[in-house]
Amino acid sequence: MQVTHFDVESLRKDFPLLNISQGKNPYVYFDNGATSQKPQVVIDRLKQYYDQENANVHRGVHQLSQISTDNFEESRRIVRRFLNAEYDHEIIFTAGTTNGINLVATSFGTMLSEGDEILISELEHHSNIVPWQMLAHDKNLVLKYIPINNKGEWILDDISDLITDKTKLIAVSHVSNSLGTINPVEKIIEEGKKFGAKILVDGAQAIQHFKVDVQKLDCDFYVFSGHKVFGPTGTGILYGKESVLNAMPPYQGGGDMIKTVSMSGTVYNELPHKFEAGTPNIAGVIGLGVAIEWFMSIDTEAVAAHENDLLVYAHEKLSEIEGIKIYGTSDKKCSLISFLVGDLHPYDVGTLLNQQGVAVRTGHHCTQPVMEYYGIPGTIRASFSLYNTKEEVDYFIKALKRAIRMLS
Ligand code: PMP
Repeated sequence: MQVTHFDVESLRKDFPLLNISQGKNPYVYFDNGATSQKPQVVIDRLKQYYDQENANVHRGVHQLSQISTDNFEESRRIVRRFLNAEYDHEIIFTAGTTNGINLVATSFGTMLSEGDEILISELEHHSNIVPWQMLAHDKNLVLKYIPINNKGEWILDDISDLITDKTKLIAVSHVSNSLGTINPVEKIIEEGKKFGAKILVDGAQAIQHFKVDVQKLDCDFYVFSGHKVFGPTGTGILYGKESVLNAMPPYQGGGDMIKTVSMSGTVYNELPHKFEAGTPNIAGVIGLGVAIEWFMSIDTEAVAAHENDLLVYAHEKLSEIEGIKIYGTSDKKCSLISFLVGDLHPYDVGTLLNQQGVAVRTGHHCTQPVMEYYGIPGTIRASFSLYNTKEEVDYFIKALKRAIRMLS
């Protein structure tokens, strides 16, 4: 699909980091799967907070504390609108995707008993594998994996073996971070619901690429990281359905998550504070609100179409290079490409690309089971964002060809 109403050049001007260069080379940032660059409005907002507003939230009667609290809570409302959650208090601020998943594993995990089953997939990031392995080990639970095929897609043929009345939780990624596959989470949610399983969707690689509506999805939890959606590091969101969050015990004890504390015990606070013990990342959360508002001001359909153009174009150009093998060939893909060149080591290719001003990621991308499936140690991953261009893809291809020549 051709994008006509998406002005990438003017959008790039919002991002100071995109204007740097490396010696006489431009700097091409294709590591957006790891983290996104930040628009100037977000950078300015962090400075403004520390320059003019710094005070703790929820605790003071003084003016600055009230301003901080108002701005902090405004971010919650922005995120609620962004995800189309039903209530503001279904939005829990976390330190990131990893933190959100660990919160659910720890808290929801207390409600599981021996023999209960958790279903994840072979495509997951380590942060959506290890917490469940730890929980399964501690509580004698059964951890099952949705297998994948050669294209990097879930195999759901034996779904009735995977999801049973013992399945209490399904935790799956919306988009694979190492292969780019857009997973059919709607299907797994529908199947899981038949057995009363709760469903967590890891949206770390989805939320910056297309519109997510948690009510439409009807998942119980949706988690993502602020830094991948143009916001500050150390911020993240756990969306949880009110009834599910209310049934769960607190995750950590401390300030803010209590109503009253006496020597004999504690009465816990209500949502969302029950899950937000201690002083949060106030500046980060306020910055995240600004990042999301900025992102919401851009036509999501145009973003998706532009990124898809980049993906198709890069696929085409890469495929013309002899010896290239692309991993992750589903028809439903987000804008990232994992590949290898003959038997060249990904690290060597990545190093030579870096020397020419191209930032890609090399390695297993925290998805070792995926690498194990393909029998490879890792890949080279180029991941695109809304601010990338076809000219940058051309430069990347030129730099890649040069790297291959130097290594061959
Ligand atoms: N899940 C997926 C799919 C990811 O891509 C990532 C980050 N690469 C994570 C989880 C973990 O995110 P974070 O490190 O921000 O907690």
